[in-house]
This record gives sequence, structure tokens and C-alpha cells, in this order.
Amino acid sequence: MAAGKQDQQQRPAEVDTVFDAVIVGAGFAGMYMLHRLRGLGFTARVYEAGGGVGGTWYWNRYPGARCDVESMQYSFSFSEELDQQWDWSEKYAPQPEILAYANHVADRFDLRQHIRFDTRVTAASFDEAAKGWRIETDRGDKVFAKFCIMAIGCLSAANHPPFKGREDFKGPVYHTGEWPHEGVDFTGLRVGIIGTGSSAIQSIPIIAQQASALTVFQRTATYSVPAWNAKLTPEYRRSIKADYPALRAKARARPTGFYFPFNMKPALEASPEERERQYEEAWERGGLPFLGAFGDLLFEKEANDTIAEFARNKIRGIVKDPATAELLCPSNVFGCKRLCVDTGYFETYNLPHVKLVDVSRTPIERFTSKGIEVDGTEYQFDAIVSATGFAAMTGSFDKISITGRNGQTLAEKWRAGPRAYLGVATVGFPNLFTITGPGSPSVLASMIQAIEQHVDWMADCIAHIRDIGAATIEPIEQYQDEWVEHVNEVSKISLRSTCSSWYVGANIPGRPRVFMPYIGGFPIYVQKCNEVMSNGFEGFVIDGADPRNEAPRVRLTERWRVPLDIDVISPAAVAARRVPVV
Ligand code: FAD
Ligand code: NAP
Repeated sequence: MAAGKQDQQQRPAEVDTVFDAVIVGAGFAGMYMLHRLRGLGFTARVYEAGGGVGGTWYWNRYPGARCDVESMQYSFSFSEELDQQWDWSEKYAPQPEILAYANHVADRFDLRQHIRFDTRVTAASFDEAAKGWRIETDRGDKVFAKFCIMAIGCLSAANHPPFKGREDFKGPVYHTGEWPHEGVDFTGLRVGIIGTGSSAIQSIPIIAQQASALTVFQRTATYSVPAWNAKLTPEYRRSIKADYPALRAKARARPTGFYFPFNMKPALEASPEERERQYEEAWERGGLPFLGAFGDLLFEKEANDTIAEFARNKIRGIVKDPATAELLCPSNVFGCKRLCVDTGYFETYNLPHVKLVDVSRTPIERFTSKGIEVDGTEYQFDAIVSATGFAAMTGSFDKISITGRNGQTLAEKWRAGPRAYLGVATVGFPNLFTITGPGSPSVLASMIQAIEQHVDWMADCIAHIRDIGAATIEPIEQYQDEWVEHVNEVSKISLRSTCSSWYVGANIPGRPRVFMPYIGGFPIYVQKCNEVMSNGFEGFVIDGADPRNEAPRVRLTERWRVPLDIDVISPAAVAARRVPVV
């Protein structure tokens, strides 16, 4: 037992089992954390509310679900063998394939025996005397662990808007993030779908192929770029695998944590013809890299207007009915909300049985027994799809009663918005780690990269605490305040902070408006984490180490010594507001 005798002696009496670490969640974050901790010789237990691994990809089984970061990059990079042996079938793999990959990882690294499925953690409280966490589940487990690691996901708490009459509707209502495992056959049904975010945009074209009538309720029109998804050829896969580490390294050096070609030239320095040419080329490449067409698109409103108008003209060119086309044209900042990536989304509105209902000025009034009422009109359905998104970043924290020092709860602490040092830990909650927590790049990076970097940092940190025989690690208030301030300040340089997106919690009424992810770019953030570690965990108090221990030896997982790609993300580029972020 790696944490040593000390813990055994101080174990609280009323717990069933003691672990070095409890990890909550068995998505990519929880799985990799488990793998790292086991590799370092720690005992660990994972609790997972779902019946299997995969997190996002276990729950989001709606038709058309797939990744929007290319699969050759939206995958773990920690194992060269895994990279070499796994073959992705498409540029953007569909959900079943990503879930199969997650299951493969679980089997390959022998993770399942340490995971308790169908078990939700309900409470975690810090025990001052025992210097660790008491954890309780909805199945009655009461365990103790020195470290508690939240791997509960940024987009895992489904948002169910409290529509009036919700219970009156006689047919089924499906949330995209809680989709039935057996699938849903919409053949011949009249279907209503609420929302036009990424989940809706992926599912609408597929549902439209089955349904006899499909009505989309749109509150905010959405920008979407074609995915141009395609099967991957063996030659293409071979070309990547010939030097996969090089691609991974290039990805880590990018602000987004994934690699794609982009152009640093400001749109405002290009002629209208050059802009048009550049946008056309980027559109033909498709997907999120479209935002890399110019360097100033997310920093200068005037530049953004040019790409927004280009995208609106694409919609006008696709959608035949001019009134529907205008309704589908967004008026907000391009890329301010998460950009969507689609296959045939706008084309779907040319089908005679697909209808768009604008609920921007006249919101959904109520659910009735037969459907949905808007502005005095009842739309009748056999089934309703709620593609209404998530209580992002902190929603899954809200569902657990987390109590730190002196009985303070995380809910109280974060009432005015989440506060965490580097997004990894928070004052008053020693030995509690938050993978892709608020204040880290998380959802603004390719998330598997963000997860791996956090897990490696945390695993190295936990090993260090063990090596020096310490009891706890906890951030210092002043450092946390400075980091939170920095996260806020950096967000202001981006147009991203200007709209009512889930990045700022605006999709959930009553939430404080705080830009939650760190927008300063992935490599800059990694460098900061490395510095903190190399300086002996600067900004943290490490308590209880025997003073006779040798000076701390800090280990840093080698691959995170990322060189900054200074051509694209130099401090000067940041200052000039030219840090393309996705
Ligand atoms: P999750 O996968 O969300 O896993 C968290 C797990 O914790 C869940 O299984 C949940 O059941 C469990 N859990 C939560 N609370 C508890 C509790 N109290 N007790 C027990 N278990 C609990 N990101 C990208 O970078 N690229 C993409 O293309 C992309 N596509 C996406 C598509 C969809 C439909 C969605 C919703 C998100 C997408 N994301 C994408 C973001 C995606 O969430 C991350 O890429 C990644 O899968 C997150 O992994 P995770 O392990 O951190 O969290
Ligand atoms: P989302 O982007 O938050 O979209 C939710 C949609 O529901 C929005 O159109 C929203 O309108 C609408 N909505 C919410 N409450 C409503 C109400 N009361 N009345 C009417 N409309 C309402 O959620 P999501 O589509 O599930 O995507 C969330 C995130 O998950 C994405 O941004 C992305 O990061 C990730 N994701 C990725 C992919 C992918 O392509 N790989 C697919 C799915 C999800 P408003 O815009 O007006 O709030």
C-alpha cells in the first residue's frame, strides 16, 4: 500500500475500505487516471454512475453522434503501441466506434476490476483527523481515500429546462445526453427537437431521414461548418503512423491541443478577394480548422464580421426557402459559441417535411399532452428530442455534496463562480483534484490532450506527496486568486467572452456569468503547470512531510516538456490578440 502505514493507522472506523485514491468517473479522464495511479503502485477505486466506461461516449448515443476533432488526434497519446494498433475507420469516428475504443482501453490496460459501475458518488467530505476523503455512494459504499480525484466531465450533467407541463406530454422525451442504449426508431413518427447546438446539428439530418415530420425549435441560430467526413484509407493511416509521435508533439504545441494548418495573417490586412479565397479554401477543408482561416478572427469584431457574413452566405446558398434561410442565419459573433461541425445540416431544411420554428422572441410556452405550444400554436408530436445541452463545467460537481475543511461545501465556495488554482485544485479542499476543472483549457482544447496533461501532472504530484511522506497538498489563496484573475483577464481579449454561451454558464438561468475555461492557449498553460511543479509546487502548501526527508524530487512526465510553437503562440502574438483558439 503506497500511502503507507500512517493512513492505515488513521483510517476512520466507519469506512468499509481504504484506498490511496478514489476516482469519480470512468470516462477518458477517470480511465487514464486509474492507469497512471496503478502504474505508480497506488491502490485506487473508480466509481462510475453509468454501466460502462467511456463517459460522454457511453451516454451520448443519439443518431449522428461523432467527434469533431479528427479521430487520429481525438484519442489517447500516452501509449505508442495503442496508437499504432488502433485503426480509426473515419476522419470523425462515430460514437459506437469511440465507445469501442474506450472499452478496448479498459481491457488492454486491465482497468475494469478497479471500477464500480452503476454507482454514483453522492458525497465526499474531507476528514481533518485522518487527512483524507470519506466517500459515499448511492449503493451504500463508505470508503476512505487519501486522494479524491474528480473525473466527472465538463459536459456530463444534462440540462433539462423546466418547461411548463413537461409531465403532461404523453409520448417519450429523449435528451441527447441520456440516449436509450437500445436506440430509438423514429420511422414514420412526428418528431419535435428543441435546440440547434452541436448535438442537434448532428442528429437532425439523421432523424429527418426517418421521421414523417420533423420540427426544429430554434432559440439561437448556429454557425456550422461542413465536416466533409470520409472513410480513412489505409495509406492515410499509415502516413500518420509512420511518425505519430511527431503529430502528437505538434498538437501539444498548438493553442487548441490539436494540429491543423492555420494562417496567422489578420483578415483585416487581406483584400476582400483574398479573404474570400482564403475562406473558400478553409471551408473546403471544413470542420473546426475553418476558424484558422485568419489570425484575428476571434479578436477583432470587424474581422469576425467578414467570416460571419461568409458563413451566412453559405447558408443562403444552401437553404432554398429565403425566409427559412434568414432564420437560420446567426447574427452573433462567429465562433463565440462552440462552432458546430455538420454533415448535411442546412440541406435538411430543403426537405418538405422539415420545419423550423423560431422561439427566440416567443419562447416555448409549455408542453401539452400532444406536443409543444409556442405563441398560442400547438405543434403535435409522437416523440420529442431535447438537445438542450449541459450544465457545463460545474454541473456534475453540483450533484455531489463535497465538503472541505471546516465544513465548507464546494457549492458555497463556488456560488459566485468556480475558483480553482490552475483548474486542478481549490483552496479548502486538500488532496482533491479536478481533471479539466474550471480555469484550465479543458473544453477549449482537444479534450483528450487536456485530460492527459492534467492526469500526468496530478499523478506526478501525488507520487511526489508520497515520496516525501507528506499528508496533504492544497493551493494557497493568493495564488488561486491570481490565477482566477488571470483566467478572467485573458478571456477578455477574446470575442468568445461576449456572448451568452455555456462557456460563461449563460445557458442555465441563475448561474453567475464567469468565463470558465482558460483561453490563453494550451501550451502556455502547460508551461505554467510545469513551472509550478518544477518550483516545488509553487502556490501550494504541502503539509506533514518529515523535515528529515531529502529535498523534494519533482518528476515531470517527459512529454509535457512541450516547446512553445513560437511562430503561432508567442507572448507577442498573445499581446497582439492573435492566438487562434477553437
Ligand atoms: P466524461 O466523458 O463526461 O465522463 C465523466 C464520467 O463521470 C461520466 O461517465 C459520468 O457518468 C461520471 N460521473 C459524473 N458524476 C459522477 C458521480 N457523482 N458518481 C459517479 N460517476 C459520475 N471533446 C473533444 O475534444 N472533441 C470532440 O470531438 C468532442 N465531442 C463531444 C461530443 C459530445 C456529444 C459531447 C457531449 C462532448 C464532446 N466532447 C468532445 C467533450 C467530451 O466530453 C470530452 O472529449 C471527453 O470525452 C470528456 O471525458 P471525461 O472523462 O473528462 O468526462
Ligand atoms: P448546446 O450547445 O448547449 O446546445 C443546446 C441547444 O438547446 C441550444 O441551441 C440552446 O439554445 C437550446 N436550448 C437550451 N435551452 C432551451 C430552451 N429553454 N428553449 C429553447 N432552446 C433551448 O448543447 P449540445 O448541442 O449538447 O452541445 C454541448 C457541447 O458538447 C458542444 O458545444 C460541444 O462542445 C460538445 N458536443 C460536441 C459534438 C461534436 O460535434 N463532437 C456534438 C455534441 C456536443 P441557445 O443557444 O439559445 O441557448
